[in-house]
Amino acid sequence: MKKRNNSFAQDDVFSYMQVAGYNPLMINRISSLRENFPVTNEHYQAVMGVDDSLAAAGEEGRLYLADYQILDGAINGTHPQVQKYLYAPLALFAVPKSTEPNRMLQAIAIQCGQNPDKNPIITPKSSKYAWLFAKTVVNIADANYHEAVSHLARTHLFVGAFVIATHRQLPPLHPLYLLLHPHFAGTLAINEEAQQQLIAPGGGVDRLLGSTIDNSRVFVVRGFQSYGFNSAMLPRQLHLRGVDDTKTLPIYPYRDDGLLIWNAIHQWVADYLSLYYQTDASVQKDTYLQAWVEEAQAFDGGRISDFGEENGRIQTREYLIDAITLIIFTASAQHAVVNFPQKDLMSYAGMIPMAGYAPASTLLKPEVTEQDYLNLFPPLEQAQRQLNLLYLLGSTYYQKLGDYPQGYFTDTKVQPLLRKLREKLQQVEITINQRNLNRQPYTYLLPSRIPQSINI
Ligand code: FE
Repeated sequence: MKKRNNSFAQDDVFSYMQVAGYNPLMINRISSLRENFPVTNEHYQAVMGVDDSLAAAGEEGRLYLADYQILDGAINGTHPQVQKYLYAPLALFAVPKSTEPNRMLQAIAIQCGQNPDKNPIITPKSSKYAWLFAKTVVNIADANYHEAVSHLARTHLFVGAFVIATHRQLPPLHPLYLLLHPHFAGTLAINEEAQQQLIAPGGGVDRLLGSTIDNSRVFVVRGFQSYGFNSAMLPRQLHLRGVDDTKTLPIYPYRDDGLLIWNAIHQWVADYLSLYYQTDASVQKDTYLQAWVEEAQAFDGGRISDFGEENGRIQTREYLIDAITLIIFTASAQHAVVNFPQKDLMSYAGMIPMAGYAPASTLLKPEVTEQDYLNLFPPLEQAQRQLNLLYLLGSTYYQKLGDYPQGYFTDTKVQPLLRKLREKLQQVEITINQRNLNRQPYTYLLPSRIPQSINI
């Protein structure tokens, strides 16, 4: 496959963001469109040709929707003294019907708000600046969703709940405490820092994101509360979103590399926990473990939703292994997926402004001009702040997945298991590097670039 042009204005770069960008977590397979996004077959065929149709794409599992509905009703921010906008767009993508193995997701249509009466459908066949405007609106929504939901709520705060439960409920020599502890290094400190500065009134989020600071915090809370533990496990999350089938959606680097890392962590957790839990009964009888589960779920504790098996407890070794895999995966790989593109992709306001500076109703004008499009972008000072902040957040690498300190596990039975993990991660590194020879490189899940814990 030819490497794609890196230009941010290209349609294939826009689509590639959904599968290998800074927030590759949005698309869901759909079989047809809801009433609030009335894309027609004419829209579809204008992009994909008359040999294909919207109905066929839906039936064959080739239609994917990115819906930013969670951002609907946002109160637009003004800090610092400039009117900003946030949007809740819908973006439709499709995979062409060919059997070419490298066929890519393609952008079909965008509606820049949830109400179709107020938001026209824009496609690559609309005028040049209307389409650029609409794509940028999606990038703005994606960036706000990324920071509030995918990054802060679903990695930093999600793991934070387990840091506290672990310290409160597990004795320091408990095998689970020992396993988890290195994956919690620096997390409470950076979360406190975020609370004091980044999401404080007048801080980086208030200044740069589209909504008011109070409303941005509401998105964080909504993002956290709507993140059920059991559906967050990577294989299940991919299945629920309908993006697990490599035949219908061949190019999805986050999925493909993520599963390699998930499986490596899963094997390590299974090997390690099998030393200490030989039966399901040994899991059920571990009162420390059960108190830990309760604390993570409790209203006055971690408030993790949909966690545990029947009656909210952990009953089986199998579930325990899955659950611990998710916590370690989130603290390491998932955070790397959303944290490090902040520098490479999100620091450039010319591609991804953190807020809009023109209303979506601009698209109702009979002609959208270059000036209308340029009006969407931040003042220079805001763009510079975005660069400074996101460059910093995306540049700090501390420790590496699988690199537990020398002699950390004193149980000699752990040593061969740890060697196995490290060998596995080296293999994954080689596999991803090979994959990157044949695709636009996706490097965020290279094991050598995944920290052990959330510390930035
Ligand atoms: Fe982070």
